[in-house]
Amino acid sequence: MEKIIDVKKLSEIKKENLKQEIKMLSKKNVIPKLAVIIASFDESSKIYVRNKKRLCDSLGILQEEYYFSNTVTTDDILDTIDKLNKDDSVHGILVQLPLYKHLDKHKILESIDVRKDVDGFKEINTGRLLLKSKDMIIPCTAKGIMSILEFIKADISGKHAVIVGRSQIVGKPVSYMLLNNDATVTICHSKTKNLGHYTKEADILVVVAGVCNLIKKDMVKKGSIVIDVGINKVDGKIYGDVNLHEVIDDVEYITKVPGGVGVMTVISLIENLIELVKRSNNIE
Ligand code: NAD
Repeated sequence: MEKIIDVKKLSEIKKENLKQEIKMLSKKNVIPKLAVIIASFDESSKIYVRNKKRLCDSLGILQEEYYFSNTVTTDDILDTIDKLNKDDSVHGILVQLPLYKHLDKHKILESIDVRKDVDGFKEINTGRLLLKSKDMIIPCTAKGIMSILEFIKADISGKHAVIVGRSQIVGKPVSYMLLNNDATVTICHSKTKNLGHYTKEADILVVVAGVCNLIKKDMVKKGSIVIDVGINKVDGKIYGDVNLHEVIDDVEYITKVPGGVGVMTVISLIENLIELVKRSNNIE
């Protein structure tokens, strides 16, 4: 059995489904449009934006990019978002993180119209996720991780899921999703003592710390599922947070980096966009 999850195959299946949905929308004269705000020095952000654009182009989705220099103010970005909120041709607004340090991230994210909150980062969408509301928009990486678990038909109910990392954008949302699916959830973070004690207990281990080589030999349970979310650049090469070679003998399934969760994050973004398009046009 192949232990490394074939995320490429999953992404192809998902892309095919999306193509069908977009075809159905075009018959109703609706062309999905995503607006992306980029106000950052971060080089990786530019790569992510390029990847999104490539996927949007291949699916027939419009993507508009708004680049800002480091002299931009929070009010300038709020003005742009206000215009995009009022523009009926725009279905989703994405603010690429991280933003320049001087900008008010919270104010900017909260200014997005909830009907266009494609990343699901607004407080109201976090609340919906906590309450398991049917209106929730699941943050893209968490949604991608759940798709991967569904793809391998992982049995989540009653299993012990350990998440390493508690960020607002990935760690917490994926913890809530696993809890919503009846896992027993443990959340670890930088202040957790004896991390290996917890990770070794995990039936499902999700690692999203951004620390290369954090999970090594003897830190995983035999027969477990390991989802590596980390993206770490070392000497120009990309690595995850898990030392795949040291743990692969013990796991049942594992995702690799690159070519794992990152692939599904972009697909999930487009799934969220299509969901918002359908909602705004009252299409089931
Ligand atoms: P973050 O810095 O906001 O959060 C990191 C979390 O890890 C924190 O909660 C921190 O407490 C915890 N942590 C840090 N060091 C730790 C340690 N030694 N032991 C235990 N916990 C520790 O980062 P983030 O935005 O959640 O991203 C984390 C990683 O995931 C990064 O490498 C990022 O690039 C990657 N990422 C990947 C995708 C994807 O699509 N594959 C998406 C988002 C983030």
